[in-house]
Amino acid sequence: MHTEIVRGHCLICGTYGRLTWDHVPPQGSITITKVEQVHLTEVMGVDPVPVKGVKSPNGSKFKTICKACNSNHLGANDQEVARVYKELTSLVANHFAYASNHLDYVSLPFDAVRFCRAMIGHILSATSVDECKREPVETPYFTPLQNFVMGDNFAIGNTHDLYCWFYPHRHHLSAKMFAFKNRRNICTISVLSFFPLAFSITEKGKGIYPSGATKVELTDDRLYVNLSSGHFPYSGFPFTHLSDDQMILMSTAQAIVSYPIKE
Ligand SMILES: [Zn+2]
Repeated sequence: MHTEIVRGHCLICGTYGRLTWDHVPPQGSITITKVEQVHLTEVMGVDPVPVKGVKSPNGSKFKTICKACNSNHLGANDQEVARVYKELTSLVANHFAYASNHLDYVSLPFDAVRFCRAMIGHILSATSVDECKREPVETPYFTPLQNFVMGDNFAIGNTHDLYCWFYPHRHHLSAKMFAFKNRRNICTISVLSFFPLAFSITEKGKGIYPSGATKVELTDDRLYVNLSSGHFPYSGFPFTHLSDDQMILMSTAQAIVSYPIKE
């Protein structure tokens, strides 16, 4: 995961040049600690070898985007992510400490465009540096996401749906792309989850999301998060119990779990 690379193709704008480190989850939204990173397939027991994580002294990070994208498109919007995570964390703490309101959800003000731009940008960056070694190609799934991150607010309106839901877990999960198959419905999904919120991108109209998720529209000015405990079992991965012919397909390098470890 941390193969040293200096130059490559930026995974947002495609420009070939010097690459910079991107923290995922973003700095400011979590306390950066020493973490161990593993591939999701290792945690799930797909690989027969014992899990040996990659240790990082200062959080989970990826050297896969250029400096301009890092600061103009992500850094400029990370403040909104940090504010939402901070405010939601205290709303969640209050909700469970006092349960004083009789609602099973909390809500907070939300700049959907800024929040989603940063989150989608981090999802695009959180992968193996091997992707930076290849010439960028246009794809129906990633090209609209890249254009949205670079400032086109209408780039994903016809191609993608966005969802958020309460994520009561300690580990961080990023998966740039995996496919979920449910009978005849095959859907490509991306997720970035860290306490207390999970965020997903799916192909438009496929309707794949965990119970209790809120659909995010880019015109939203409030974020609603359902906290009822009935949804907890579906909040992690893969959102649902797999049964019948349901299955999940993913590339090992694109699904990464990280968790805080002691010094
Ligand atoms: Zn770039």
